[in-house]
Formats: sequence, structure tokens, C-alpha cells
Amino acid sequence: MDEHIRQRFCAYKKGIERKGNRYVCNRCKNTDLTLFATFPCARCQRECVYCRNCLMMGRISECTTLVTWCGPNVSFSYPNALHWNGELSPAQREASEKITETIRKGGDLLVWAVCGAGKTEMLFEGIELALQMGKRVAIATPRTDVVLELTPRMKRAFPEVPFASLYGGSEDRHRFAPLVIATTHQLLRFERAFDVMIIDEVDAFPYSADDTLQRAAKKAMKEEGTLIFLTATPDEKWQRACLHGKRNCVILPARYHRHPLPIPTFRWCGNWKGQLQKGRIPRLIFLWFQKRMEMGKQALIFFPEIEWMERALPLFQNHAPAMEAVHSEDPKRKEKVQAMRDGKIPILLTTTILERGVTIPNIDVAVVGAENRIFTESALVQIAGRVGRSPKYPDGDITFFHHGKTRAMIRAKQQLLRMNRDARKKGLIDD
Ligand SMILES: [Zn+2]
Ligand SMILES: [Zn+2]
Repeated sequence: MDEHIRQRFCAYKKGIERKGNRYVCNRCKNTDLTLFATFPCARCQRECVYCRNCLMMGRISECTTLVTWCGPNVSFSYPNALHWNGELSPAQREASEKITETIRKGGDLLVWAVCGAGKTEMLFEGIELALQMGKRVAIATPRTDVVLELTPRMKRAFPEVPFASLYGGSEDRHRFAPLVIATTHQLLRFERAFDVMIIDEVDAFPYSADDTLQRAAKKAMKEEGTLIFLTATPDEKWQRACLHGKRNCVILPARYHRHPLPIPTFRWCGNWKGQLQKGRIPRLIFLWFQKRMEMGKQALIFFPEIEWMERALPLFQNHAPAMEAVHSEDPKRKEKVQAMRDGKIPILLTTTILERGVTIPNIDVAVVGAENRIFTESALVQIAGRVGRSPKYPDGDITFFHHGKTRAMIRAKQQLLRMNRDARKKGLIDD
């Protein structure tokens, strides 16, 4: 270490810096005073300030030093690194070209792709170009499951390129790799390291609420780097900027399999909470459930709160004992989702934790209490996006049971209808 410092290949930096009566955490760039605390520190023998915002990565305090590499960049080039024989759909091709162009020229790009558009494949050519140009690439995502899912696909596509897959507990963290996939938290380990930063699911919970992911990404990126955002559900501000041409963006309105997106139906079901309290499933919801059971079709039923879901479960189980419910704190969460995939659970009740990421080939989806605030426009679009993803079963039913329509519900439906309209105009769907 000392040798590296003498040669000016590495530099030390304070973990937490005091600026007047404010603090900055140099790892996560947190400046929110409520997210700093003190503890009696054994190392510096006083009350030492530490950052709570990035505590899950190990404690950073005033007397912690951070080490950064400031020597020459590692140079590499991997020409023709891509080993993939698949074919892009016309929509994916357009996005792929835009991504490649942005990587060549630098700058930002928002890729707004409907659920099931096939995001991963359209990144391949851009990544290939970057690796050929000696640019280091990171794909960042809020969720560990996405890292785990993408890792084998990336390794297959770029078999000769050193690759690091970073998440809590991963083995790869001290290895230099031109191609990195990381969760948001792991991104905090880097400073000015990447030429190309691809952020997946910019809008995803819990990062929609704060800007940790974007801040981490900015810090991990080189100043002249390329920033690519991928999302199926940009927020209103970004949507407007896109639709009015104020942001460099490409929209993929169609799924890979060329079928239109299924559109939700709204069903008013009155005071559903009151009904559940009396031990009854509201009639319209019951009929919907019954029909799925008769058809033998699997379904997900979303609830806004665990409490109401747990009230409803035994009522449903009276008719279908194999039914289950799942939520974020459920210790059997993984097993239940797997049992659903294996077809052992006919209908699964769930909170918003299954709003994204889960793909079950042939399902219908209902939302109970769609008027609840937790069901934002983007949550509802994601939920609708669970249906009809497989080319074998491109269709399905989506019903929003509500006690009063909300703006989010209406906007979600409009967004899906607009995508189908655009896709038809561009000849990207076959009906
Ligand atoms: Zn921090
Ligand atoms: Zn200390």
C-alpha cells in the first residue's frame, strides 16, 4: 500500500468529511444530517461520526480512510467479444443501435421498454463496442435477483471477458473486470471507474423514493462517461421529457413476441374492506376467482397491505385449500414463489413484492383495492406486465378491483394503450 501511495497510484481520503456544520460521506455521498450518528470509537478514542446510509456495507466513520486508485487506467481491448447467435426484433434493433451510438459518442440515453421487450439482448452490441474501445462497463440494478439472473447470461454472451458479479456476499469483489454487474450498494465501492454505466430499473422500489442509486452511479462513473437508463415505467417527469423530445430516449412499445400488451379492466367492488371484515369475499372478486379455478388457470391477486391479504387468505382457502399468500417478510417467500412456478399453488395472494421480476408463463392477475396509494402508475404497469409474457401464452386477464378510480389507474391504462398504438403504427405487432 505504502509503495502505491508513494508512486501516486493510490490516494487516501477521509471516510466522513466535516464541512462547517455539515457532513459528507465520501463513500455514498450522503449529506442528510439525520443519516449521521455518533458512537464511542475505540480507534480514535472519541465520539466519532459515522454514516447510517451505507452502514450495510460496513461502518464508515470520521477516522476511516478510503483508498482510491488514481494511477493510470488499465488498458484493454476485446474485439469481437460477443458470442451470441440470437436475433433482435426490429424494436430491439432500433434500441440497440441507439445504445451503440450513445456509447460511441457519450452522453445520456433513456431506454423506455415495455415489460417483456427483451432488454438484455439489446444491450449486447453496445457492450461489445465498449469492450472493443477499451471502455469499462457496469450494469447496476437495485435488486440482487436481477444480478443473479443476468450473470450467467452475460458470461455466456461474453465468455472471454473477465467479469465480476457484485452483490452482498459475492466472491468477485477484489477482482478487476472490464464488465461488472452490481447491486446499488456494491456500486458504492467505486469512484470514477466506469466509462459506461447502465442502470436497470431506475424507478424500482426502494430507489424511487430516494436517489441513492443515481448518486452511487454518478460517483462510480467517469466524468465523460456514458449513462444509460433502462426502465419499463419512467416517472411522469421523465415520461413528459421523453414524449416531448426533451431527453435523448428510445421507446420500445412492443414485446419481443409481437403480441400487444394485455390491457387492464376496472371493476368497482365497493367497500371491499368492510366485506372482508364480515368474513366475505366481495362478489365480483369471488366470481373472478371462481372462474380461474374452473379454468384451472394460475393467478396472482395483489393486495395493498399484508393485514388485508391475511384476512382474505382463509376465506379463499375455504374454496381452494392449496392457495397461499406471500409478502416481503415471509421467510418462505422463495419456496412459495417456486411452488407457484411449479404449478403447485393455483392462486397466490401477494403484496407489491411480486410486482416485478416474476415470470410465470400463463397467468391472470387481479389487484384488490387498486385505489390504494401504494399502487402507483408504475406499480400498476409493472403488475399488468406480469401477464402474457410467454410467446406460448401472450394473452391474459388483468382486473383492477377498486373502490373509486384513481389517476394512477387511469394513467397506467393510458400508458399501456399508447404503447400498443405506437407498436401498431410501427408495425411491431401482428394482430
Ligand atoms: Zn455513507
Ligand atoms: Zn473514530
